[in-house]
Amino acid sequence: MPPPLELTLILAATRDMGIGLNGTLPWTGLKREMAYFARVTKRVPPSLPPTTLNAIIMGRKTWDSIPARFRPLKGRLNVVISRSVTAAPSYPRDANAEPVMASSLEQALAFLREQQTQTQPLGRVFVIGGAQIYGAALGLRETRRILLTRVVSDFECDVRFPLQLEEGTEGWKRAEQGEFEGWVGEKVEEGEEGEQEENGTRYEFQMWERVD
Ligand code: NDP
Repeated sequence: MPPPLELTLILAATRDMGIGLNGTLPWTGLKREMAYFARVTKRVPPSLPPTTLNAIIMGRKTWDSIPARFRPLKGRLNVVISRSVTAAPSYPRDANAEPVMASSLEQALAFLREQQTQTQPLGRVFVIGGAQIYGAALGLRETRRILLTRVVSDFECDVRFPLQLEEGTEGWKRAEQGEFEGWVGEKVEEGEEGEQEENGTRYEFQMWERVD
């Protein structure tokens, strides 16, 4: 029996959970932050076979926000959710060339569960946005963890993550640094007061876990 499928949400958000502006990110130039996102979503736990691929699930608008030359995001199985999808999801011939399309998050998860028993082993499953798909995922018991880059600097935003995640948020607790680093599989930089700065934008990497 493969282990039960677990979802990890990964996002960068301001203190009031702003994540987007005009169909794109509210900030630019956070290269180290984007490199962290790429490493963490690609990294497969060492206990799994080397051919294992992680999956990233996103809404159609987030897919549209990625420049065509960069998508699908390489080294991960990209899954795009859109109501306009009518065919059942199928595994692409080349996961680096085309995404899996699904008509709902539930259909995407059912498809990924089937893949766990096929020849291409499936590793971790991340939900990478946007707000609509995060909202759908927060309602599922499979969602166990949130990797949050807390952007401390202020930015104008028109899209928000649908949960104000902070100390005392019901059902969630912030993971200790050791546990966080153990799960992501790398040392997580801690600057002054836990914050670091890139191009004048201050942020902090955090991990939150669902409390049952
Ligand atoms: P989403 O990326 O969540 O995509 C929304 C689309 O997903 C809908 O229009 C629909 O596609 C499809 N969809 C949504 N719900 C369902 C459902 N229940 N069943 C089937 N399909 C569904 O859009 P948002 O506007 O919420 O978020 C986009 C914004 O978020 C952008 O500004 C982006 O840059 C930002 N973002 C920020 C991140 C961060 O970490 N800061 C991460 C990711 C995105 P269709 O219309 O085709 O039917």
